[in-house]
Amino acid sequence: MSEPLPSAPHTIDEFVRAYEDSGKLRGFRCPGCGLVTATWGLACSRCGAADLVETELAPTGKVAAYTVLSVPGDEFLNDAPYAYVVVELDGGGRVTGWMPTVRREADLAIGERVRFVPSYKPGVQFAKDPGPTATG
Ligand SMILES: [Zn+2]
Repeated sequence: MSEPLPSAPHTIDEFVRAYEDSGKLRGFRCPGCGLVTATWGLACSRCGAADLVETELAPTGKVAAYTVLSVPGDEFLNDAPYAYVVVELDGGGRVTGWMPTVRREADLAIGERVRFVPSYKPGVQFAKDPGPTATG
């Protein structure tokens, strides 16, 4: 006899494709400790609680790390060079993505504000965020 597997709100495939379908970043919030994560999982990575609640993540954040790739995979063949970025989202969640507008190391900085841009291209695409004053 084995324990039944815990049920998940959706599959990993549905989760990673959600931003392509809905134009929104999805993640989970732990009702136990408040951790917000962009990573699909069945339990909280910090406190182990199993009742994670699906949540919409903020589309804005700041660059935590990045590097510029000049040798792309086939799906990004026409976009190289571009930046591969790790973004710390406002309100929690850390997402890996890419920025086609960044072509040199000097074009971006750690801590710079960026915004999620829904795209038909694979991956989570970000662009520099002009901030609330520029969006009107
Ligand atoms: Zn937790």
